[in-house]
Amino acid sequence: MVGYCPICGKPVYFGEKKRSLGRDYHPLCLKCQKCNRQLTAGQHAEYDEKPYCSHCYLKMFGPRGIAFSQ
Ligand SMILES: [Zn+2]
Ligand SMILES: [Zn+2]
Repeated sequence: MVGYCPICGKPVYFGEKKRSLGRDYHPLCLKCQKCNRQLTAGQHAEYDEKPYCSHCYLKMFGPRGIAFSQ
């Protein structure tokens, strides 16, 4: 089964996917959409279906609604 990377919109194949928060990313696409820091799967925040590091998330949206679970 091929999923689509929510960042670049291209297919993510099994061998290269990085699954985090219920979505499949390319390893290089799983980065903070604000500061471009590489993110660890399952250990980042998400807003509007885009991944952010917790630092940027807190700065932009505050501490509420942060989701670290799958
Ligand atoms: Zn991608
Ligand atoms: Zn960031």
